[in-house]
Amino acid sequence: MAEVLRIAIQKSGRLSEKSLEIIKNCGIKFGSDARVLKERASNFPLEFLYVRDDDIPGYIRDGVADIGIVGRNEYDEQAIDLEVLRDLGFAKCRLSIAVPIDFPYTGLASLEGKRIATSYPHILGGILAEQGIRATFIQVSGSVEVTPQVGIADAICDLVSTGATLAMNGLREVEAIYTSTAVMIGRKNMGSEEKENILSRLELRIDAVMRASSYKYVLFNLPEEHLDQVARIVGGMKSPTVTRLMETGWVSVQTVVAEDTFWDVFEQLKALGAQGILVTPIEKMTE
Ligand code: ATP
Ligand code: ZN
Repeated sequence: MAEVLRIAIQKSGRLSEKSLEIIKNCGIKFGSDARVLKERASNFPLEFLYVRDDDIPGYIRDGVADIGIVGRNEYDEQAIDLEVLRDLGFAKCRLSIAVPIDFPYTGLASLEGKRIATSYPHILGGILAEQGIRATFIQVSGSVEVTPQVGIADAICDLVSTGATLAMNGLREVEAIYTSTAVMIGRKNMGSEEKENILSRLELRIDAVMRASSYKYVLFNLPEEHLDQVARIVGGMKSPTVTRLMETGWVSVQTVVAEDTFWDVFEQLKALGAQGILVTPIEKMTE
């Protein structure tokens, strides 16, 4: 019987749609929108397993799936020894320290002896240990941002994309300690040459899809006070070009945004009060 490669994909959440889109763009045909647990591609030896993202690294280790797509944060936190096959670049977010407005934060050292609520004790613990900082971790799996208000934590460490949720809970983001994107991970040894071959073919297609995903040139007006946050959102690229507008407190920003993150960035810019967002294609771009 011919072998198939089994890929684990988040059933529903921030990673699902984009993961499937990449595979579709590889010319692989598969199914229904009403998602089942498993389905088989019709024109490529690939089988999909739709599960919770938290379960993906363990399933790959145990041989339930061969490869999978997860946030790098989830992979690093679980510290299961697999291989990162490709960085897919989407689902960009950061793991940040946030503290109540009146917390006198001057750097990671301010966390010494404090209680920090987080779903990422392994990643955070590693970073604090490197700096010789001791803290107590309160492990929570959701609503991390409410823990200071209810008095069970002094600070939090959580995933952030815009910071709006933090502000609503009287917290301010003081330091990003880690950034994450979606990665394709797999077992170090697929256990069969046939599976290795299928994986190589898939990787070849994914590389082509990623290379083709172009950039856009983006121009918008922004309240100057949000410039720092914008630099973080479009981060990873060269610094944006900033021009002062006649109207005080406003700037015009020009930058290049990867097409595959465009809608994320667009929504985040809107949330920061960006106006007149103009998007134009780039004909050619040299390094
Ligand atoms: P599941 O039900 O599958 O366990 P989940 O609630 O754990 O889902 P999502 O919220 O869909 O997971 O997030 C999945 C991944 O998306 C995160 O692990 C992270 O890598 C990425 N991500 C991107 N932006 C954010 C954000 N603003 N907040 C949280 N995660 C984000
Ligand atoms: Zn999850």
